[in-house]
Amino acid sequence: MTNKTAISVDDSIAMLDRLIAFDTTSRESNLALIDDVQAYLGELGIESRLTHDETGKKANLWATIGPSGVGGVVLSGHTDVVPVDGQDWSRDPFKLHRANGRLHGRGTADMKGFIALGLALAPEMKRRNLKTPIHFALSYDEEVGCLGVRGLIKDVVENLPLPRAVIVGEPTSMQIIGGNKGSRNYRTVVTGIPGHSSEPHRGANAIMAGGRICAFLEDVQTDLREAADPKSDFDPPYTTIDLGLIDGGTAGNIIPEFCTIRWGMRILPSDDADAIEGRVRTFIAEEVEPRLKAVSSSAGVETIRTNMLPPLLPDTTSPAEQLLRHLTGLNQSGSVSYGTEAGLFQQAGIPGVIFGPGSIQQAHQPDEFIDVSQMESCHDFLLKLIDWAETN
Ligand SMILES: [Zn+2]
Repeated sequence: MTNKTAISVDDSIAMLDRLIAFDTTSRESNLALIDDVQAYLGELGIESRLTHDETGKKANLWATIGPSGVGGVVLSGHTDVVPVDGQDWSRDPFKLHRANGRLHGRGTADMKGFIALGLALAPEMKRRNLKTPIHFALSYDEEVGCLGVRGLIKDVVENLPLPRAVIVGEPTSMQIIGGNKGSRNYRTVVTGIPGHSSEPHRGANAIMAGGRICAFLEDVQTDLREAADPKSDFDPPYTTIDLGLIDGGTAGNIIPEFCTIRWGMRILPSDDADAIEGRVRTFIAEEVEPRLKAVSSSAGVETIRTNMLPPLLPDTTSPAEQLLRHLTGLNQSGSVSYGTEAGLFQQAGIPGVIFGPGSIQQAHQPDEFIDVSQMESCHDFLLKLIDWAETN
């Protein structure tokens, strides 16, 4: 049974309207939004703790409602959104538009809706006498590799009581997601020896070498797919290879000196990413580099790992999943193939699940929206969480 509250889902929608108006595309500063949230919480007597990036133009926000000496339950959301560039929006993406039971705007589903619901209920959390604190963790640069939250987690682990559980409010249509794939990203630069294209024997063609690497990545992909466990609940049920960008060469009649390949993988929690990466590195070292080096020792291949995100290891017995099952009455959880901040929290010893309103189908899309009914059901869920935090 939920205590009566004067706060309704309309207050959350008003808060969403406020958050959507900030253009927090990952390449932009998110400080205007963070300042606004900090001021809002400050008026309620809730202190915020900020961790900035190196430039000082972006920040994470951490705030606690309830007792300060113990770890509580974290409501975690990223404040950045993906670009609207090149997308065909019917209206201003940074102005909330309500129509037919839907709330449109960039970030409504992914994931300012969840943040707005939590913030709108902050006065209620403050009014209650919480035994278990509720924390807000708002991050920057999630959409570009979960970069920002790492600083927030470091600050929490080093300076504050370790939270009991984190709810990462990505859009899961209010279903519990207990696992996600990890990811690694790489930049491979092939350096060849340039020359006139009529004399290929005097040069080393970086694009041809790069092409062999790309073809090998496809072979690796095929092997992973053929070894898939059909019982896995991941879709697809195997580690996948990303090969997203390639560039190189200067003209049709010049042997290309450079070829750069951006690739990566999305790794099943049960797979050995080091082994897969090692296989690619071995192929490059044994099959690609020797041919380049035979022309000149200054030719070669360099592969740099540009980002790494741990998977969220499914754990149905974790305090986070147990709490969510208890509060929602759901008795199962799924897995997703995209990366989230939950794996970083888990790696730091903070058990997490992914659970939030709205559909991932709407995330990153033009005319992105969240159903008002999803906002309502998350509002009800958060009220149950508040009740729980008052007595547990
Ligand atoms: Zn997201």
